[in-house]
Amino acid sequence: MTVRVRFAPSPTGYLHIGGARTALFNWFFARHEGGKLILRVEDTDPSRSREELVRPLLDSFAWLGIDFDEGPHAGGPYGPYFQAQRLQRHQEAAQRLEAEGKAYRCYCTPEELAERREAMQREGKPPRYDGHCRNLTPEERKALEAQGRKAALRLKVPEEGAIIVHDLIRGEVTFSFAQLDDFVLLRSDGTPTYNFAVVVDDSDMAITHVIRAEEHLSNTPKQLLVYEALGLKPPVFAHVPMVLAPDRSKLSKRHGAVAVEEFREEGFLPEAVVNYLALLGWSPGSEEEVLPVAEIIRRFRLEDVGKTASIYDVGKMEWLNGQWIRRLPVEELLLRGRPFLEEAGLWPGAEGEARERLLQALTLAQPRLRTLRDLPDGVAYALRAPDTYDEKGRAKYFEGEAAKEILALCADLVEGLAARREWRRESIEKAYREEAEKRGLKPAELIHRTRLAVTGKTMGPGLFELLEILPPEEVARRLRRAASRIAP
Ligand code: GLU
Repeated sequence: MTVRVRFAPSPTGYLHIGGARTALFNWFFARHEGGKLILRVEDTDPSRSREELVRPLLDSFAWLGIDFDEGPHAGGPYGPYFQAQRLQRHQEAAQRLEAEGKAYRCYCTPEELAERREAMQREGKPPRYDGHCRNLTPEERKALEAQGRKAALRLKVPEEGAIIVHDLIRGEVTFSFAQLDDFVLLRSDGTPTYNFAVVVDDSDMAITHVIRAEEHLSNTPKQLLVYEALGLKPPVFAHVPMVLAPDRSKLSKRHGAVAVEEFREEGFLPEAVVNYLALLGWSPGSEEEVLPVAEIIRRFRLEDVGKTASIYDVGKMEWLNGQWIRRLPVEELLLRGRPFLEEAGLWPGAEGEARERLLQALTLAQPRLRTLRDLPDGVAYALRAPDTYDEKGRAKYFEGEAAKEILALCADLVEGLAARREWRRESIEKAYREEAEKRGLKPAELIHRTRLAVTGKTMGPGLFELLEILPPEEVARRLRRAASRIAP
């Protein structure tokens, strides 16, 4: 038996972090098992165009590296892969259930249903469909149809007993039929409900394992009843725990970025996002945290997915992103950072001195970066003089006559080193320390001021390594410019 799993989003125009995690778990499992991954788009909102809804999903899948074997764009032998195009299959299945007496027409209007539900609630009973149309005689049916009423189709659910969901993650979960009612399969407009369409489609597409979010667990007994009524063998179910916000509420836009697209825009690497989402609920069985996707796939087992909800922690994801940034060869880091450098006007082109300088600055910045978005800020000094200085730094280091003198002194020092062709980090450091001692100053007084004058910042990589990247004339110019900006 070939494993066949599917990701079946109801598209909203973007891929939510929870959806991405579900898609990834399906993908890891499919690849681990040498099976197939299918994308089925459950497009039940006809008001928006398919392409408009699906394009952002496909872009996010591509960015994450999820490659579907079958789907609306990949094609495949089990299409169509848009649910709305499978209507005929849903209606055929519905007709069969009706013909076999396993489903029946219900003529109740929404108002009547609501009224009776309220009455039940008033009596303290759980609100459910009361079986009103379950045993209508042919004459009663005719009379209702004569009133112009449209019928929905409901499944006959046994009145007593229970059904057990065998879940790979959650174990056995029992639902008593008292909790269920004769639920709708086809609405009065002829469209299928989720619980019906999903069974017909999963079965038609030969899905072997349904891996989806835990919020669907309560739908599973209904789906099992539909499988049974249709005489079909159900797939194996695995409900993955929810991803919650830090306050344990449902993750939503008010918690910041929740769309995969936004992570890309904020400078996350797909390696880090995949790695982070994998660990959100799944455990590799060790303390390791930085795992390449091939390793995740190699080790992925549904049995190792936890039962408890995972808390989404953007700080942890940033940390992981930093880990992945450090693993990139610097040339690759430059390419990955390109959109951010371009946006900041810092793209140096394919070759030349600016590029070399930027690569050196990147090497120095790499150990501190958390996202690619931080990148331009960390390397800008390599290509241009700062136009402003850090506010606190200015107050501390760029006030008064002494500051002016120290900056001028440093400029002289730098020019002297250049003239002697000693522009290497060791000689710069030596010159700075000797000069400080000669003048009875702490080296820090020269070092902090130079850093601020050259980079506009108070923090960054080691100063002497950083200076070495720049031409000494440029360093001297920045020092003199900073000195000239200090009011006498
Ligand atoms: N369209 C459903 C959703 O997005 C699919 C659930 C399932 O995987 O069965 O939640």
